[in-house]
Amino acid sequence: MAGKNAALACTICGSRNYTITPTEKGRTTRLEVKKFCRYCGTHTLHKETK
Ligand SMILES: [Zn+2]
Repeated sequence: MAGKNAALACTICGSRNYTITPTEKGRTTRLEVKKFCRYCGTHTLHKETK
């Protein structure tokens, strides 16, 4: 069964620019990282989403 991947979505425009594989099961905190958004054209905060 696939589909366990999460994504990192830009908090500015909402685009899912990156896909990630959760490494820790049962982790409660959501990942927040600064990454480059090609739609915004700059580095923005990305949050983990499903
Ligand atoms: Zn963006």
